[in-house]
Amino acid sequence: MNDRHAADSCCSDGHAGPALRLDEALAYILDTVMPVDGDETLALRAALGRVLAADVVSRIDVPAHTNSAMDGYALAGSALPAEGERCFEVVGTSAAGRPYDGVVGDAQCVRIMTGAAMPDGADTVVMQENVERNDATATLRAGERPGQHVRQAGEDIAAGAVALTAGSVLNPAELGMLASVGVGEVRVRRRPRVAFFSTGDELCGLGEIPGKGQIYDSNRYTLYGMLARLDVDLVDLGVVRDEPDAVARAFADAAARADAIVSSGGVSVGDADYVTDTLERSGTVNFWKVAMKPGRPLAFGRVGDALFFGLPGNPVSVMATFYQLVQPALDKLAGRPDAGPPLTLKAVTATALKKRPGRREFQRGVLTRAADGHYTVRHTGQQGSGILSSMSRGNCFIVLPEDCGPVPEGAEVAVQPFRGFV
Ligand code: AMP
Ligand code: MG
Repeated sequence: MNDRHAADSCCSDGHAGPALRLDEALAYILDTVMPVDGDETLALRAALGRVLAADVVSRIDVPAHTNSAMDGYALAGSALPAEGERCFEVVGTSAAGRPYDGVVGDAQCVRIMTGAAMPDGADTVVMQENVERNDATATLRAGERPGQHVRQAGEDIAAGAVALTAGSVLNPAELGMLASVGVGEVRVRRRPRVAFFSTGDELCGLGEIPGKGQIYDSNRYTLYGMLARLDVDLVDLGVVRDEPDAVARAFADAAARADAIVSSGGVSVGDADYVTDTLERSGTVNFWKVAMKPGRPLAFGRVGDALFFGLPGNPVSVMATFYQLVQPALDKLAGRPDAGPPLTLKAVTATALKKRPGRREFQRGVLTRAADGHYTVRHTGQQGSGILSSMSRGNCFIVLPEDCGPVPEGAEVAVQPFRGFV
């Protein structure tokens, strides 16, 4: 983002200046966020989903020994018949974990199982289906290739090589790889600590009876759900009343305890003033009008040393802004490699979509895949930013770009599936 935009979007009166494009807002945020320092040592299973803090060098070859990729007979490739057939003496057996200790001579072979170590003198395996076995002999025909069906020691990971580099995310494959090189403990990056709270005088907690004009605080549960799935530790700071002192205290508390703060509500034009005042005293915060729907008002900056994301209050806006802007930022804060833009598919819309040019819209849709492999999508019904059930009924965002107008039925649209993304 250039300086003019940054200046325009950082306005002490709340929302002056042009709307900021979502991609500009994201680029600005990602530019600002730096990974947290620090690491810790964890047992392998506890490290699932974490970011490796240092390279892991393997002390061993994987596989540890050259072994058979098939059930069959191990022999010297040079002994294979060039034409016709040849009879070999079966001198022993090599099973997984129970190798054959002898040496295989020219007219000899060893019965071998998948994963069993290749005996000395043998470099080739003939699969059992191609062998005629009679007591102590095995007969096979020409057509086999010297060196076939053998896995070489170290072909997956060689001793002394880097098995996994610092910055790798430890997914199931990585846990298995670390176990395969005998590593039971790993150094991983410390998790960022994220404090979150809701703002609003109208909010009441679960277990309370809502008074006139009150609503249950649902955002804190949605936020909890979204945050709990990330590589972060959580601090729940509850509900903060719309009072300058309460807001100031909440921010001071959050900044002292966390690397990042996520709040909902209190950033729209009507109520931005006290939040603005408070934040101007304790940090540097931009109040943005992001050209996205749902989710237009957004605050982003720093309170003390903590990053601050002030999300809008409307329940669907909370989710859309979180997934589009906060999640990538928290991933970077945790030191995770940049995953790039969310996976997007093309689908034909089975319903007309209302849209006015100007903002990037994230309508909720139900994506289905027809037998011919093509995707179709329909909207979930009412698209208001308070209709949280649309996020539950839907399985994707229908992403309509800024300059797009109304979309007729049958047109192709881009969708971001929730699965694998949220
Ligand atoms: P605000 O951004 O504070 O003006 O809130 C916008 C809308 O979102 C209002 O209708 C609020 O009642 C609603 N809202 C704000 N916070 C929450 C919350 N924690 N849970 C559910 N709805 C909320
Ligand atoms: Mg409010």
